[in-house]
Amino acid sequence: MIPFVDLKAQYHSIKTEIDEAVIRVLESSQFVLGKEVAAFEEDFAGYCGSKYALGVNSGTSALHLALLAAGVGPGDEVITTTFTFVATVAAIEYVGAKPVLVDIEPASFNLDVARIEAAITPRTRAIIPVHLYGQPADMDPILELARRRNLIVIEDAAQAHGATYKGRRAGSIGHLGCFSFYPGKNLGAYGEGGLVTTDNPEYARTIRMLRDWGAERKYQHVLKGYNYRLEGIQGAILRVKLRYLEAWTEARRAHARRYNELLESSAVQTPEEMPYARHVYHVYAVRAARREALQQALSAQSIQTNIHYPIPIHLLPAHADLGHRRGDFPQAEAAADQVLSLPMFPELTDEQIATVAAAVRSNGA
Ligand SMILES: *Cc1c(COP(=O)(O)O)cnc(C)c1O
Repeated sequence: MIPFVDLKAQYHSIKTEIDEAVIRVLESSQFVLGKEVAAFEEDFAGYCGSKYALGVNSGTSALHLALLAAGVGPGDEVITTTFTFVATVAAIEYVGAKPVLVDIEPASFNLDVARIEAAITPRTRAIIPVHLYGQPADMDPILELARRRNLIVIEDAAQAHGATYKGRRAGSIGHLGCFSFYPGKNLGAYGEGGLVTTDNPEYARTIRMLRDWGAERKYQHVLKGYNYRLEGIQGAILRVKLRYLEAWTEARRAHARRYNELLESSAVQTPEEMPYARHVYHVYAVRAARREALQQALSAQSIQTNIHYPIPIHLLPAHADLGHRRGDFPQAEAAADQVLSLPMFPELTDEQIATVAAAVRSNGA
């Protein structure tokens, strides 16, 4: 069997350090926030090239608090892509704002920059580009537009730890960056976790309060806040794993190059790394005309695959209230019908890649 991801293999490769880190937290009894979380925040800020990093309990919470810190609320509109995980849009609704969806640019699967301006209204307050699959959106024109129209840019970097755009790290490019440490993400906790990056001291101060019941000091509740704190054990684990992130990212990139070579001029279309991007291949998605048949054939050969995502946001029953219909965003709809994510994780072997590629080639027509 070739799994889609193999979290156990990764744990075993770093078991001694992880076990020590967890025991350190158990002995310290700093189970929520605390020293290990603070140390991880400092390390992650340094890695990203951001002034501040605030750990929270999920990527969704990171997006929620970034929007609140940016002052987005009821009556505001936030522009984002329809081809994303549902959390991006859910967070916009948590603050009472209205998601305004935009289609993707097919080569990158990311926000089509040329279509953003037409979606701006006097109520628009922010843009959330999603660095889908681990490839940054085309940020310079987005930042230019945001400057011109006085909008806040919040990066959804939940899939893009370590990715770069023209040399700048994902999460450090917009006004705020949001990360998820869900176990399967490129940097994954052993439980839930998330983080917000920013260079803005006011945003950092607000998020620091909001994640911990809006308190400036214990029982001094300045804001109406949340219980969105990152656990000490997760901070300690993430700090160990951050030291391996570059090596794991290079392994993912090498696997992607190998897949690309082996699938050249096959019936599937391999992903494109844009000239401005360092893609970190959280997901390696090919396009296949007969996607369901291919997925079934791979499954019959014990190769696990996934679809990210089979239904764009505008066609989900949960978001029917946005008033869209099939045909509104044709590029996202085509992508949703065609994409298939192949096994991708740092510990994947050359032999496994060759097996997957051969299976795709013999079934991909
Ligand atoms: C995973 C993910 C999130 C949500 O992160 P959680 O930690 O699961 O809350 C948000 N946006 C994108 C694009 C994601 O992939």
